Amino acid sequence: MDKKVRDLMNAQINAEFYSAYLYLDFANYFADAGLAGFQNWYMVQLQEERDHAMLMLKFLQLKGEHVDLEAIAKPDKDLSSALDVLKMGLAHEQYVSQLINDIYAAAQEAKDFGTTQFLDWFVKEQVEEEDTAGSLIKKMELFGSDPRGLYLLDQELAARVYTAPSLVL
Ligand code: MG
Repeated sequence: MDKKVRDLMNAQINAEFYSAYLYLDFANYFADAGLAGFQNWYMVQLQEERDHAMLMLKFLQLKGEHVDLEAIAKPDKDLSSALDVLKMGLAHEQYVSQLINDIYAAAQEAKDFGTTQFLDWFVKEQVEEEDTAGSLIKKMELFGSDPRGLYLLDQELAARVYTAPSLVL
């Protein structure tokens, strides 16, 4: 593999595990706040992020590359309100989209079309992640300030169940 592409992919494994860790921090915030549905939502999100990391790890191994696991940073965001947390979630997904796009561009430049094809799934996934995070903010802004609205929204989010990623290597 092109060294730059390999290094970016290796770094992305860490970024995905960091996402999982960040969402666990979000889940803990909502556990403390007594919002078990929101907690559940981010626990599912955590599992998805772990899957993303493992897919990338497996892909690098399929390509015969060694994987270097790095330390996962401490989630140090100041979680001050539920709405703030949701907004941080969207900002984080937008950041991750940029990272994926950067790897995609590097792979294209290296004519590594096996990697761009692999990353196509992630490009699509990021569009969904940003849409989902944005929708959650809208719902929270519409209904979150009303206790009954918040209760119903929490119940809606409690119904989310984890499903394995559609991408199989
Ligand atoms: Mg991800």
